Amino acid sequence: MWKEKPHCSNCSLDFEEPYLRCPECNSLLLIPAIKGPTKEKISLSSMWSIMDFLPNFEKIVTLAEGNTPFLQISRDKDLRGLNVKLEFRNPTGTFRDRACSLIVSDAIQKKAKTIVGASTGSFSISLSAYAAKAGLSSTNVVPHNLELSKIEQMKIYGGLVIEKGETVDEAIKESETISAKEKGYFATPEQNILTIEGQKTIGLEIALQSEMIDSIIVPRGSGSLIFSVYRGFEDAKESGWIKKIPKVYSISLEKTKIAHLAESLEIKKPYMIEEVQKLVKETEGEELEINAGVMIDEALTLARQEGLFIEPSSASVLAAARILTNEKEIDCTKTAAILTGSGFNALNIYAAQLRGKKKVVWGLSESSTTKFEILNLIAGKKATYGYSIWVSLGKSQSLQSIYQHLNELEEKGIITEIENKAKRKEFELTKKGFETIERMRDLIDYI
Ligand SMILES: [Zn+2]
Repeated sequence: MWKEKPHCSNCSLDFEEPYLRCPECNSLLLIPAIKGPTKEKISLSSMWSIMDFLPNFEKIVTLAEGNTPFLQISRDKDLRGLNVKLEFRNPTGTFRDRACSLIVSDAIQKKAKTIVGASTGSFSISLSAYAAKAGLSSTNVVPHNLELSKIEQMKIYGGLVIEKGETVDEAIKESETISAKEKGYFATPEQNILTIEGQKTIGLEIALQSEMIDSIIVPRGSGSLIFSVYRGFEDAKESGWIKKIPKVYSISLEKTKIAHLAESLEIKKPYMIEEVQKLVKETEGEELEINAGVMIDEALTLARQEGLFIEPSSASVLAAARILTNEKEIDCTKTAAILTGSGFNALNIYAAQLRGKKKVVWGLSESSTTKFEILNLIAGKKATYGYSIWVSLGKSQSLQSIYQHLNELEEKGIITEIENKAKRKEFELTKKGFETIERMRDLIDYI
């Protein structure tokens, strides 16, 4: 199947299995740069138009991934001319589709009946879809508290979802156990070299789509995307499509309380960090940390000015481009930023932001959500009177409307006034109030 087999330079061994790391010494396995046809011979219609660079399979499982658009930012003054590679236009809204097409094709060839993988969402959605196309069952291990819309998408494609642990590292461990027990095909992206081989086609496509690019801005996450894109440019250089590999800018997230806004960037120990640091240095790029707080605003600006709807975590590259262009580090017209994930995967986060809530509960009206927030504040004695409740809720609505909610809750016998000497009207929950809040907490996973 391989054009060139995965190779461990430390042990001088070649492998047939798609390991990402050497089972003997844990070094990263490498596939040498591949020399493909000249640019002119290629007419790009999907990732498989450049199959000269990909392993051979008896049967290809494809949903027409790849060949994603390459657009220029036009209305945003700071970023005008910046090239954006729309990876969220892939079949399930993520660049992971490129990896899953290869992985599921390999699973079919190995006559697997089931396929097991772990991720923070996008990869698992993609895996579920490609497994469906191939007629395989898929088991997806994800950390707890993942966006509901992501979990539902896996289920929609018929994938089995298992929630395990607080971080993706714990989910990966569990996926290894399940995979061994069920003798399934092990698809976890951080451990399968086909992930890199699939995703490298992004670099190859950029080399085909523009000759101008001298810098690329990529979200780091585990490091696998950056490494993949770089590998693609290596193949493009080997094939004479480009003369020089662009400078690589690696974008990660500052550790803050709101890091949950960017599930795919929130990784304890990035799996390929050393490799990424090495290639950033080699290409004379830079590593940048972006504050998570700016990402939603960046993403909304992109939606409102350019008509492109992406995941908040994907907007980190735009925040970085703004910094780099201000510092005259990059020329936007010669830079490509990779927009990795679709906004549809993060609808809850946007809805909460636009409504000024911590979390949106679908099916619950805005007014009920506010009442629930008020009850939580009073129950926890964090705020017990109108003004303090209004402040605690971020003054996002009128003080008058808070008093209105309190009146309604009192009329329903859910809260009652505390007898005290202070002039202000303070509240506590009644027995009925406590029962109500318990029932709601049972139903709603509320932070
Ligand atoms: Zn080795």
